[in-house]
This record gives sequence, C-alpha cells and structure tokens, in this order.
Amino acid sequence: MNYVVVDRGDELSKQLAEQFHELAAARGLTFNEDSPEMVVSIGGDGTLLQAFHSYKDRLDDVAFVGVHTGHLGFFADWKAGELEELVRMMTESEPHIVRYPLAQIELETASGVSNHIALNEFTIKGVDNTIVAQININDELFEMFRGDGIVVSTPLGSTAYNKSLGGAVIHPSIESLQIAEIASINNRVYRTLGSAVVLPQHHHCDIISRKEQRLLLSFDHLNMTRSDIRSIRCSVASRKVSFARYRPFPFWNRVREAFLGYDVK
Ligand code: NAP
Repeated sequence: MNYVVVDRGDELSKQLAEQFHELAAARGLTFNEDSPEMVVSIGGDGTLLQAFHSYKDRLDDVAFVGVHTGHLGFFADWKAGELEELVRMMTESEPHIVRYPLAQIELETASGVSNHIALNEFTIKGVDNTIVAQININDELFEMFRGDGIVVSTPLGSTAYNKSLGGAVIHPSIESLQIAEIASINNRVYRTLGSAVVLPQHHHCDIISRKEQRLLLSFDHLNMTRSDIRSIRCSVASRKVSFARYRPFPFWNRVREAFLGYDVK
C-alpha cells in the first residue's frame, strides 16, 4: 500500500511522523507522496483539513486516517501511543471505508466560473463592512441578507464553525448542506429567516452579490479576497471524502466526547 503522512509541523507531530515511517517501512508499506492510497494525518482536525486540500484532486483514490496529538478529534481517532497498532491494522486488515459528503462551491465572476470544494464549510464575509446578498434556493428568491456573513457547511463541518453559530449537528451520513447566518441585520428592508436551514442533496442555493463589495471567501482554512463576485452556487458535491476505519468511531460518541466531555471508551 502507498501512503503519505501530513503532520501539523510541531515537534511532537514531526516525531510521530518519523516513527510512523519507520514502522511502515518495517511492515512493507511504501511512502509515495504523489499517488498515495492512504493519507495519514498527524496533529488535529485542522491537520486533516490540510491533508484533504493537498489530495482533493485524488479523492476517488485515497482514504484518510487521522492520528491526534492532543484531544480526540472529529477526524483524528488514533492516539499518539497507538501508531504500532495502526500500522499493524493497515497491513493486516481491510478497513471499513466510510464516505461522507462535501460542499461544491461555484464562483461566478465577469471573467468566468471557478469550482471549489470544502470538507467543513464555505464561508463568505465582508472585508470592509457588512455584506449585502440575495439568497436564492433552487433558483427562487429566499431572502435578502445583510450582515457579517454566511456559512454553508457540510454535515462533517456541522460540528465546527456552524455549531458556534447555533446550527444543528448533522450526522455525516445525511447528504445535505446547512446555511447559517453570521450576525444578520433584520429590519423592513433586509429580512432573514434567522435560523439555520438544511438543504437536501438535490437542492442548491445561490448567494448573489447585491453591491460592489470586497468579500472574504474561505474554503475550510483556505482564504481568498475577491471584489468581482457576481454569484456563488453552493450544492452537495458529487465527489465524497473517504475515511479508513480500522475500528468503530461512532459520530455521536465523538460529539459527546468533544462537547459534553464524557470519555469515549
Ligand atoms: P483554527 O482556528 O486553528 O481551529 C479551529 C478549531 O476547529 C480547532 O479546534 C479544530 O480542531 C476544530 N475543528 C476543525 N474541524 C472541525 C470539525 N469538523 N468539527 C469540530 N471541530 C473542528 O482553524 P483551522 O485549524 O485552520 O480550521 C479551520 C476551521 O476552523 C474551519 O473549517 C472552521 O470550521 C473553523 N472555524 C471556527 C470558527 C468558530 O467556531 N467561531 C471560526 C472560524 C473558523 P483541532 O484543534 O483538532 O485542529
């Protein structure tokens, strides 16, 4: 099996990456940065986001597995002291592959269309002041938004930024997107629903820029500033992300551990 390791870059993660390479070599795994079948992320959930974006062009051919160096993560379930066990499982057993939905983001400008993908979420914010945008759902006007921004999250991202905005936690097997508001202004001109909305897989939404404005666009941790956006179409991507599970890692246990503090055995 070809593998690659993406580490957070801190001393502990780098040491663990070295240890992983030694264990992997001893068991006949092949390090291959260009065409890995397994991407091992060592660090935290943020590290897995980096790993995802490094290999997003090979989603049909790779599976991700996460090792955490701090707290149990949503993407990283293996502990630092379990590398030997992980490498043994990788060489001796077939993983259960779970595939989860992603967000497809299509930016339309005067000069054309560009496509982007997000594992957690797409975020739009104003650079200079509040943004003004029309939100259409399935090509029909839904609301006029004025406020700090909008977060469109995947089910996997529902426990991240979306949750801080009061959005619902969605099980990642439910193919959907969730639209959450960041500080909307509500008055007689601009009126928003005020609660997060969950779209099913076959629906889409458009965020249409309604004034000249500089926008900060984020695809997970990757940011860009644009002044030329006409509209942004958000939908559930046709591609999915695959995670390799060598043992059960139930989503609701992760939610309980992360937010309620009870240990997952
Ligand atoms: P960061 O600011 O360094 O870390 C954001 C935090 O979110 C980290 O604790 C990270 O966990 C955690 N996280 C990432 N994905 C998660 C998920 N799916 N469920 C639950 N927690 C998750 O930023 P970063 O490491 O570059 O990550 C970018 C992410 O930050 C964005 O995708 C966005 O979701 C999140 N964010 C959140 C807020 C907010 O809640 N107010 C604001 C901006 C961005 P680890 O410590 O394990 O890496």
